[in-house]
Amino acid sequence: MSIRMIFFLSLILFLPLQISAEEKSENETKNKMALYKKTEAITQIPWYYLAAIDQYERNTQKETASSDLISITIPEDVWYGMGNVGKNSNASILPIFNGFGQDGNGDNIADPTNDEDILYSMAHWIEKVGTSRHDIKIALWRYYQRELTVQTIMNIAKVYKKFNTIELTKSDFPIPIQYNYSYRNTWGDARGFGGRRIHEGTDIFANYGVPVKATTYGVVELKGWNRYGGWRIGIRDIYGRYHYFAHLNGYKDGINVGNVVEPGDVIGSVGATGYGPPGTSGKFPPHLHYGMYKDNGYSEWSFDPYPYLRKWERAARNR
Ligand SMILES: [Zn+2]
Repeated sequence: MSIRMIFFLSLILFLPLQISAEEKSENETKNKMALYKKTEAITQIPWYYLAAIDQYERNTQKETASSDLISITIPEDVWYGMGNVGKNSNASILPIFNGFGQDGNGDNIADPTNDEDILYSMAHWIEKVGTSRHDIKIALWRYYQRELTVQTIMNIAKVYKKFNTIELTKSDFPIPIQYNYSYRNTWGDARGFGGRRIHEGTDIFANYGVPVKATTYGVVELKGWNRYGGWRIGIRDIYGRYHYFAHLNGYKDGINVGNVVEPGDVIGSVGATGYGPPGTSGKFPPHLHYGMYKDNGYSEWSFDPYPYLRKWERAARNR
């Protein structure tokens, strides 16, 4: 068989598979949205909070291979309630044991593996506190008892609300590609300044004043001076990743903590600030320090942003 023939055959064989994978994810998004909206209609908890909780749990789960539509996982002892040793899932029995589980699909069974039951149970738990933004925050705090978790969920909800969808797949390179810049993989390198820390990011060298852009959808979580980082901005994205931009020359006017950003939004410009009291600049060549951190629901750690930067840069060049 000729190479061309093999190529042609592989096209026929693999093309339908690819299309169906795409269709599958489109359907999944549609089905998820339908379930969020349905649950909103029953409980008055806005869909974007439910979607944000679901997304947060997906972000923090070890196994992502689950085929379930809803990723929220409620611990069994919480679901069935204290003392419900026989795991009785009858929806009228569960309240006796103070079980979290509710019947969302009308079969009178509170099934901890059923997507509708899970989402309704979570919405019902929140609804008991109230339906305002403040009530929802309190309910989330009671459930997760972790500041960063509550803040991240509230931020994801803010992004979903603003764009009115959960389908937010765009990304961007932090420096406009028509400018001169250079970077290489230096994550994990030892560094002279600042004690025995490793270098938690990639340095992108560019001139003073070159625009710096948000790379993902997210919310500004931090803005301000730090001795090492100079003028910095931190953005939490919808995947629970924290994007850290340091040594900025200045900020884009009007950018503040709590702002929703999308990929490509200018947030500041390249500088050489840091390594001294506020305003100190020029102790090193101007560059953007770009760091990425991941939260797993318990702790947060730095990971190498270099492969992401390469991917975003390639995509920007192909646009
Ligand atoms: Zn750096």
